[in-house]
Amino acid sequence: MSTEISGAGNFIQTIINESRAQGDQRRIHTRFPPEPNGYLHIGHAKSICLNFGLARDNDGLCNLRFDDTNPTKEDTEYVDSIMEDIRWLGFDWEDRLFYASDYFQKFYDYAEQLIRSGKAYVCSHSPAEIKILRGTLKEPGQECGHRNQSVEVNLDLFRRMKAGEFPDGSMVLRAKIDMASPNLNMRDPVLYRILHAAHHRTGDAWCIYPMYDYAHPISDYLEGITHSICTLEFEDHRPLYDWVLIALGFENRPRQIEFARLNLTNTLMSKRFLRALVEEGKVSGWDDPRMSTLCGVRRLGYTPEALRDFCDRIGVAKANSMVDKALLEHCVREDLGAKALRVMAVLKPIKVILTNYPEDQTEHLDIELHPDRPEAGSRQVPFGRELYIEEDDFMEEPMKKFFRLAPGQEVRLKGAYIIHCHEVVKDPDTGEILALHCTYDPDTKSGSDHSGKKVKGTIHWVSADHGLPFTARLYEDLLLAREDVAVTIDPETGAEIESDGKPVLNPNSLTERNGSLAEPYLAEAKVGERFQFLRLGYFIKDRDSSMERPVFNRIVSLKDSWAKAEKKQ
Ligand code: ATP
Ligand code: MG
Repeated sequence: MSTEISGAGNFIQTIINESRAQGDQRRIHTRFPPEPNGYLHIGHAKSICLNFGLARDNDGLCNLRFDDTNPTKEDTEYVDSIMEDIRWLGFDWEDRLFYASDYFQKFYDYAEQLIRSGKAYVCSHSPAEIKILRGTLKEPGQECGHRNQSVEVNLDLFRRMKAGEFPDGSMVLRAKIDMASPNLNMRDPVLYRILHAAHHRTGDAWCIYPMYDYAHPISDYLEGITHSICTLEFEDHRPLYDWVLIALGFENRPRQIEFARLNLTNTLMSKRFLRALVEEGKVSGWDDPRMSTLCGVRRLGYTPEALRDFCDRIGVAKANSMVDKALLEHCVREDLGAKALRVMAVLKPIKVILTNYPEDQTEHLDIELHPDRPEAGSRQVPFGRELYIEEDDFMEEPMKKFFRLAPGQEVRLKGAYIIHCHEVVKDPDTGEILALHCTYDPDTKSGSDHSGKKVKGTIHWVSADHGLPFTARLYEDLLLAREDVAVTIDPETGAEIESDGKPVLNPNSLTERNGSLAEPYLAEAKVGERFQFLRLGYFIKDRDSSMERPVFNRIVSLKDSWAKAEKKQ
């Protein structure tokens, strides 16, 4: 059992160690409390890794609790997706699945207890009036006439609120704390509101619903939570969190600890934004591979190991910051680099004809599947007179230091031979390149090359007769960082937003290459299988694949800007 979390540090672990040293022997108990009003995103992964990770590292427990106290936005579709995503990330709540809505009766009973002890009252001011009476940061709030109603009147009104006698918005239950408090959250905050709305689990059983600040501490207490970890924007709510627990006379109270939410460069991470993209048809759904949702990055091909590694490396801090997305991609490459088998595919094919290769001959070359893992074995790759190479690997007028194919230049075909380009055949009308006429040197076969020839470049290729047509989907960031418009950073989401507040979408976020060709080995690939296409990046077979036409998403390219930057330092 390790008590230290690797990576950039974790001040919460330090707090736990300190309270242990001071004699607190309670078993660490955390919870992940999503509201089921959307799909989880990468930011949630940080919270999941933190809560479940602290439990794991301290021999503790972590609950999954759906914070479903707001009936209007919640849905079982989200409940199911959230559970799937947490499991996928590799965490297990065992038998500790809870719903805040299961505590509705208890919340209610505790509210009556607060009323009876004179700590809560029913107020029939409108929401707008309450807001005015609450005052400002500079001016204290005003106590309203309902504040000193008798317990009997409050109890009667609250019960009638529950019985459905009053319309939405006509009354609320408020905590009686301090209208002059410098903390606005403590100026008699609302605990309950009337909402005649069906709830996804309790149906029409309730028409009053508790507020988050009231329901959350009680839920934590009921579940025996010791450390209630939330994001920084709840710091000002902590006094209210504590007030609720103390007012109800609870012992062994949970402790709220705030940490900085994850912000990723050029990435949207708020359910509100993500939902808008789905609803406006800007993406194909919540699991569009360009989305920062967990189901999106899963479909894109990210692995749970990479996400956990990323969360470890960024650590947990108390100050808001922005994490470079290049680090996340670096973690994905590190994980896939060790795992993914290497194969060959060509995304923009250009034909090569080996004029000195026998017309009807096919060789089956044995090429390793992973350079560092001999146990992964090899596969047979067909090689013949006609091949395809990548358009970018040829330059008719090569620039300096272009070590790939060009007229008069030589290059090695991966796992095969060195070839020499003699002639560029073009369409006489359009000038378009139809084929490159090359010769191969039979003495240069990989593995048995005794020619002594040296070439600087090795390129990938696919046999024309055996190429498997597929669609490659290449992705760029969904958001565009544009210099020609005033772009600011949304402090809450970390997203780049145009000055009018709308994120700028990248028109090139998805490119489909329908003319791609792969070596026949990929015909056997299963949906969800990941590969490295040599020199092109890591790819995953997408569920949109058909028998005739597989679809592969590019997970990430091979260019690692993070590793490069690290080396420089
Ligand atoms: P959003 O702003 O995307 O709607 P939320 O905070 O409303 O997110 P919840 O379902 O309430 O979403 O979040 C569940 C848990 O995940 C909370 O404890 C919340 O603090 C945490 N969380 C949400 N976003 C992030 C983030 N970007 N980084 C770290 N933790 C996050
Ligand atoms: Mg929330």
